[in-house]
Amino acid sequence: MKITGIKTLVCHARMRNWVFVKVLTDQPGLWGWGEATLEWHTRAVVGAVEDLADLLIGEDPTRVEYLWQMMYRQHFWHGNGIVRATAISGIDMALWDIVGKVHGVPCHKLWGGPVRDYIRTYCHLGGGKMEDFYETPVENAQRFVELAQKAVEDGFTAFKAMAVPPTMPLEGLRPVKYAEACVKAMREAVGDEIDIMVDCHARPSPAMGLRFAKALDDYGLYFLEEPCWPEAVDGLARINASVTTPIATGERLISQYAFRELFEKRACDIVQFDITHVGGLTEARRVAAMADAYRIALAPHNPQGPVSTAASLEFGFSQPNYIICETVHEDVPWRRDIVSEGFEVDPKGRIVRPNSRPGLGIEINEKEVAKHPFQPEILQRTFYPDGSVGDW
Ligand SMILES: [Mg+2]
Repeated sequence: MKITGIKTLVCHARMRNWVFVKVLTDQPGLWGWGEATLEWHTRAVVGAVEDLADLLIGEDPTRVEYLWQMMYRQHFWHGNGIVRATAISGIDMALWDIVGKVHGVPCHKLWGGPVRDYIRTYCHLGGGKMEDFYETPVENAQRFVELAQKAVEDGFTAFKAMAVPPTMPLEGLRPVKYAEACVKAMREAVGDEIDIMVDCHARPSPAMGLRFAKALDDYGLYFLEEPCWPEAVDGLARINASVTTPIATGERLISQYAFRELFEKRACDIVQFDITHVGGLTEARRVAAMADAYRIALAPHNPQGPVSTAASLEFGFSQPNYIICETVHEDVPWRRDIVSEGFEVDPKGRIVRPNSRPGLGIEINEKEVAKHPFQPEILQRTFYPDGSVGDW
């Protein structure tokens, strides 16, 4: 069996261009689907997939680790920059999809699963609708409450909110009080049975992140995400050691070497590597094994398209420490038109039972994808009140 081609399909989904990767083989009807979505870098990723294809055409697609090593190590430059790592991830996912199809089993069975009966999912406030999730001002706690109640009405038992505003390296009490008011209002509205997560989007400095973490510590957050830049590993470790709220991070880190430092320094209790960036399912499995040695839970980052979600679920059914799957379902109204999935979401509790189809269990409708050609992503630029550049 040989790889005969690797193509990308770009599907503009408002805030993101979903980049689907299709690995073709010389076997009739046998191909694999992956996803290499990297918002604001779409054209670069498409080019990176094209560059990697030169290494893989003519190779056996079932030699996944061998091909991963080629993609990461050849030629000379290692694949640990975000663009190439995302391209590797998309191809790696498609290769695993092919292996599952060759053996007629879902991917999680290739990895010794299922290890659980179902996977719990959580949503973004607004279901991932850009204006609701990213643009609700923290001064409007009531809007956070409305969106939180809607998530619960939609069946979710857990949701994530961006209740921490962009702040300069040091600010006074104002943003901290607003963040606390939002979280307090949401907690009072949904009660203690619902899990609330807050994503700081790595906006704060370590000092501000610690302030936010302390202020929110009494509200029983399921986790507090990216309370400072991922590069500030000592800052993350200090915050994680200072509060009872578990700290989550990792969506922007690539390769096992970055995670080794994070784990050694006890800088998080939940790791959120992104399967579409970290180096695909192959590298995700390595990082998960390392996390296990530290008893760190897995909650992979997944705000992208449907292939990424299928990969996260297959992975979750094979990983004992996987706790929850991030999902978006209202980012574009036609999301369900472009994919057929092997799993079903139980509307009550929004839980997912194992996919029974081979591989990742999905098929992409290429005609529907063609209706949404590439457009540059909507810019999300952040500036502080004094005009200096901030973090989105
Ligand atoms: Mg995040």
